[in-house]
Amino acid sequence: MIRIALQSKGRLNEESIGLLHEAGIGIESSRRKLLARSEDFPVEILYLRDDDIPHAVERGVADLGIVGLNEYEERRCRATIAHRLGFGKCRLSLAIPKGETYGDATYFEGKRIATSYPVILRKYLDDKGIRAEIEEIAGSVEIAPAVGLADAIFDIVSSGGTLVSNGLKEVETAMHSEAVLIATPGLAAEKRALLDQLLFRIESVERSRGKKYILMNIPSDRIPEAAAILPGVKSPTILPLAEEGWSSMHAVVDERELWGQIERLKAIGAEDILVLALEKMIL
Ligand code: ATP
Ligand code: MG
Repeated sequence: MIRIALQSKGRLNEESIGLLHEAGIGIESSRRKLLARSEDFPVEILYLRDDDIPHAVERGVADLGIVGLNEYEERRCRATIAHRLGFGKCRLSLAIPKGETYGDATYFEGKRIATSYPVILRKYLDDKGIRAEIEEIAGSVEIAPAVGLADAIFDIVSSGGTLVSNGLKEVETAMHSEAVLIATPGLAAEKRALLDQLLFRIESVERSRGKKYILMNIPSDRIPEAAAILPGVKSPTILPLAEEGWSSMHAVVDERELWGQIERLKAIGAEDILVLALEKMIL
């Protein structure tokens, strides 16, 4: 049995549950309890506020956790990062009132900066040798300059819309964040094996993203040219058709390249092209 801490509600909740679901680990999301079991995998889900996840995993209250890299860094978490998950992407940036003229980061020398991420900000400023005052506030950071609480802010940005609507402009980015799977250091062998199984499934899910399965009929004498267009995972699969001189060719392709490849395949005589969704890629 392995215990995974997930955000109970908020921006990472749905995608965390969705990822486990795609990995074949269903969790009852209605009538949610603080601690839930999965029917399909020896896993128990512990729902927490994201602030509490790094510490819970570090201490082994949960064996694994899904949390933003920003929270992980801010809490100086000693849990290990087992995998970067690629969702919940955002950045931590410095922003100033939009009417200010800005040259470089020395602008912040002697300024007061409001943030909920004092640890990350302090490190960023120290690395640049800038002395500034940090005003730690828990929320609504973006209104701090307008109400005279600070000269600038350091906060999470994704689209930048919140900054603009508060009369601010982003001038420096200190870190890029995404959701990460973290693990208690020194997991017991049985739990380590479950983590490896989970990672294997997550990687298979990730690999199939943006991929399609394509099959078509092709004159057998054009197979070398078609194979050059569709390299496939190892090489394309070729099956003979009942009709003499024709073959069926199958391959996995990148969705972004799909239409270009189809044009080229048609040009060398491919017919009856089918494109199918690809759910998992187990290598
Ligand atoms: P909790 O109630 O669990 O403490 P929270 O309010 O602290 O939740 P959320 O706003 O749900 O946190 O954000 C969780 C994480 O989602 C952030 O720490 C960050 O890693 C990520 N994230 C991605 N995009 C954004 C965004 N636009 N604004 C805030 N967080 C974002
Ligand atoms: Mg939080």
